[in-house]
Amino acid sequence: MKMKMLALAFSALAAQSALAAGEVNVYSNRQDELIKPIIQQFEKESGIKVNVVFAKEGLNERLEREGKLSPADLMLTTDISRLTDLVDKRLVQPVDSKILQENIPASYRDPENRWFALTTRVRAIYSSKDRLGKLDTISYEDLAKPEFKGKICTRSGKHEYNVALVSSMIVHHGMAETKTWLEGVKANLARKPQGNDRDQVKAIKDGICDVSLGNSYYLGAMLKDPAQKSWADAVYINFPNQADRGAHVNVSGVAMTKYAKNKEAAQKLMEFLAGDTAQHMYADVNAEYPVKAGVEPSAMVKSWGSFKSDALPVSDYAKHRKDALQLLDEVKFDL
Ligand code: FE
Repeated sequence: MKMKMLALAFSALAAQSALAAGEVNVYSNRQDELIKPIIQQFEKESGIKVNVVFAKEGLNERLEREGKLSPADLMLTTDISRLTDLVDKRLVQPVDSKILQENIPASYRDPENRWFALTTRVRAIYSSKDRLGKLDTISYEDLAKPEFKGKICTRSGKHEYNVALVSSMIVHHGMAETKTWLEGVKANLARKPQGNDRDQVKAIKDGICDVSLGNSYYLGAMLKDPAQKSWADAVYINFPNQADRGAHVNVSGVAMTKYAKNKEAAQKLMEFLAGDTAQHMYADVNAEYPVKAGVEPSAMVKSWGSFKSDALPVSDYAKHRKDALQLLDEVKFDL
């Protein structure tokens, strides 16, 4: 009897969802509160229900483990290394979409359409307002110069954000020159690499160092956090390499899983995320930059100034991840 009722309940549910415009299951390492308003807007406009599983780490591994049985249709993730990891492990499939191709510049999507960037973030150089002031002409290369001796703070060289930066240096300068540069930066460190990007800004405020490497959106995060606002207020954000190739950027992005069961609805969500409304919202909530041309960042982000980004396709430097890790080991950057 109980079984029968359960079966009835299930068929009622099935009938209900058949009436809806569909469903999409998303694995996201973007925090819930960041994407919730955007997802709700999509649900309202499309009638498609979106289920989000959030985890800070390990989602690629989970998808791999689950294989064909995974419920995930889309992966929403940050960092080019995670996106290329999905490709390398053959966990995603290409999406042939005119909207995605038109809205997302070629340097911010996989040449084979297996991932698409949705936002960009700059690997910025923060400087002490009091001791150094604004450094409009600074470059990543400058960080190896003697004038910065004992003045630089950074998180681990092996954190993906720094690995991506080192990878881009390898593309531009080759292995030997990048190694020399890394040795120079290491020699200029005020302390051993430690903590996260925000901790380095705090260290500038505390007088431990004068410059730090950090992603641009953390300035927004610190400004919004009453406990960290004084850290942010102690620094300027500087966009490196404006006189030459432009600032190094990384991305957040989206990919469709290989075994997606709701392909059509999933593609609709991808296209929504690349559209004007979502592009602005998506960039705004985490103080990032939209990838779609013509979509403005938030007023706060805009107030940091405009800048030129390195035009190198992000997939190009992703290829040098192993080389970068090798050099970081060779110079014992973190030790
Ligand atoms: Fe981050």
